[in-house]
Amino acid sequence: MDNFIVSARKYRPAAFNTVVGQGHITNTLKNAIKTGHLAQAFLFCGPRGVGKTTCARILAKTINCTNRSENTEACDTCESCKSFNEGASLNISELDAASNNSVDDIRNLVDQVRYAPQLGTHKVYIIDEVHMLSIQAFNAFLKTLEEPPKHAIFILATTEKHKIIPTILSRCQIFDFNRIQIEDIANHLAFIAKSENITAETDALHIIAQKADGALRDACSIFDQIVSFSGNSITYKAVIENLNILDYDYYFKVTDANLGENISNALLVFNEILNNGFDGHNFVAGMGSHFRNLLVSKDHETLQLLEVGNNIKEKYKEQAGKCSLSFLIRGLTILNKTDIQYKSSKNQRLQVELALMQLCSINSIGADSEKKKDLIKAEAKPLKSETVNITASNPNNSQQVNIAAPSVNAVKTEAPPVTDVTNITASISTPPVKEEHTAPVIKKPVIKTASPSISQHLNVEKKKETADENSKEQNQNTSNQPSQPFTQQSLEEIWDKYANDIKAKGRANLATALLSRRPVLKNETIIEFTINNKAIEESIEEDKMNFLGFLRKELNNFLIQLQLIMTSAEEKTNLYTATDRYKHLAEKNPAINKLRQIFDLDIEF
Ligand SMILES: [Zn+2]
Repeated sequence: MDNFIVSARKYRPAAFNTVVGQGHITNTLKNAIKTGHLAQAFLFCGPRGVGKTTCARILAKTINCTNRSENTEACDTCESCKSFNEGASLNISELDAASNNSVDDIRNLVDQVRYAPQLGTHKVYIIDEVHMLSIQAFNAFLKTLEEPPKHAIFILATTEKHKIIPTILSRCQIFDFNRIQIEDIANHLAFIAKSENITAETDALHIIAQKADGALRDACSIFDQIVSFSGNSITYKAVIENLNILDYDYYFKVTDANLGENISNALLVFNEILNNGFDGHNFVAGMGSHFRNLLVSKDHETLQLLEVGNNIKEKYKEQAGKCSLSFLIRGLTILNKTDIQYKSSKNQRLQVELALMQLCSINSIGADSEKKKDLIKAEAKPLKSETVNITASNPNNSQQVNIAAPSVNAVKTEAPPVTDVTNITASISTPPVKEEHTAPVIKKPVIKTASPSISQHLNVEKKKETADENSKEQNQNTSNQPSQPFTQQSLEEIWDKYANDIKAKGRANLATALLSRRPVLKNETIIEFTINNKAIEESIEEDKMNFLGFLRKELNNFLIQLQLIMTSAEEKTNLYTATDRYKHLAEKNPAINKLRQIFDLDIEF
């Protein structure tokens, strides 16, 4: 390691034709040099590590070369080229605007620009990270940029083009550098490996190229890092270990488990991944990429979008053959949803596991829904009254039954007017419930029924919705839940018990609201509770799950429904202030007035 030079520097391209992946730029520059139409100000834009500074240097060298070759490359033998290659040329000057962004720095540069080069024809000034210059520095620079001396060429480089002010942009010839393709980076790394007598597996180099995300310099650094880690032989295994990259094999394994509907296997592989110290979110993102890769592998046309080594490409082709298009698309939807929800989830592991279970169920659900489609088609006629929109003739009890199966347009037929409500409920409730068991993930059938006792009390539109939900719950619960009758008295006892419980837990407001009035048992299962204020309604609605659960459990009746009735008339009698309360009491008992006068009492506000 006596004379170690990092690969990015050692193998930095020294001629236009060795620049990796920026052919559109090098060709334009070469042509401009050849025809003598070279601009004096350039703006090189693009991500880091893609060759902006390298191109600027090659341009400086080539333009000063006294003995350019036919295809406009520097000769590397003339005096100018030699001094460039030794890094001793005075015709190139680099300013890093990230650390030298003041007006003074720019003034120094502008002062230098005046002097013509001693050797060669042009002086090239590279200003890196030019977007970091202060506004004043920009302004100090504008004049020079507009009318530079003949021998001066400015190359401004930036990773953030949008931060460059328009006055600068309009004075420069702009070149947009590409992110370098993974294939190109891998080839370049292979070239370096060969020159350094290092054996490297192609897949390993592809992984490095992927990790570098389009930046050749980064790829070279990673390459050096791996070499120092594993010596003169770079293997796929060493690379994924060193870069902490999840092995492709895991994704193939999980996908195999998904295809085989083997939930346990999928969960075990995920567990192994977590045990190896990988993050669940990375895994989800990786699975997404994997499915995407499988998708593009299915078509010969899109196969070129697959940026992996050849061995892995074969694996992809093989697995893609086993996956149906709908499996992959549904899988991608599931993974994408998990990806979005992951951050906000409290139980992130479960989130991923749930996704895996869904992935394992795609095929069976797909098959089920196909079967169901056929079934519904076949049975549409005999079951007319069960799979239709039923519009009851009684205006108070309008009923709707929609049975929604996935990707099946609900069969809608006008049924004869029905008057007997209970019969309908009975006849429709069975088949959808059965469906639910066979296909757990399928959208549940939406059953909207309103029993007369509920709808009679509902005047407001919003209330109707809640009632619909209630009856939906009711429908699902009718099967085997206990429904023991109870009395108004036992209801009040349990009601107060709950109120006192939550009071003890510090929720005095809600408790007071619950205790302020009596619940009324309307029929066997409907409890009516009158409220006079929106806030109370909201807090009861918020707590409804707990509250209703408590009532149902304590009263051993799981059909209990709670209806909130809003009254506006009673609002006026609310005694908020002390004066109100005093007046109210005085009305009831005039002696209080006397008492106050005798003792000359004030009302405390
Ligand atoms: Zn030369």
